Amino acid sequence: MRHDFREYAANKMSMSESGCWTWTGSLDKDGYGKSWQEGGSYRAHRASYEFFVGPIPAGLTIDHLCRNRACVRPDHLEPVTNGVNIMRGIGVAPVNVRKTECPSGHAYSGANLRIEGTERLCRTCQNARRRRRYKVRWANDPVFKAKLLASTARWKSRLLPGTNTSNQTQ
Ligand SMILES: [Zn+2]
Ligand SMILES: [Zn+2]
Repeated sequence: MRHDFREYAANKMSMSESGCWTWTGSLDKDGYGKSWQEGGSYRAHRASYEFFVGPIPAGLTIDHLCRNRACVRPDHLEPVTNGVNIMRGIGVAPVNVRKTECPSGHAYSGANLRIEGTERLCRTCQNARRRRRYKVRWANDPVFKAKLLASTARWKSRLLPGTNTSNQTQ
């Protein structure tokens, strides 16, 4: 049986207004939160995704958009294809296979490698770009900022019913 993830909200997560829900329970050696499912330990972000969003499709792994491995906020989690699986499945243009590093020198391997079509992408660089865009929008786009704050307030009131969210429009 699946654990009711909401039970963790009060004492295992630190929910900041604008960002991550950082797991405050124990972490595994890779820095992912550890929750308990069916008597065994289970990565908390995967449990959160499955509880709030749905089953993780077979063959996909959960990627943190925020790069915070301890974060369990469902809208910071995205199921992605494991690059290795794609490479085995459809093959990649030989010229791309030979490249082992992105233009900035990050390795095209393991979790840093992302494959779209026949293109090999560097996750480190992609995320740096994404974070920069996010920061710029957060600073300059009041509608974007208000939306994020409202969504956090909604989550918070759903997970922690006692929380005062009357000022969520600020
Ligand atoms: Zn996060
Ligand atoms: Zn790179």
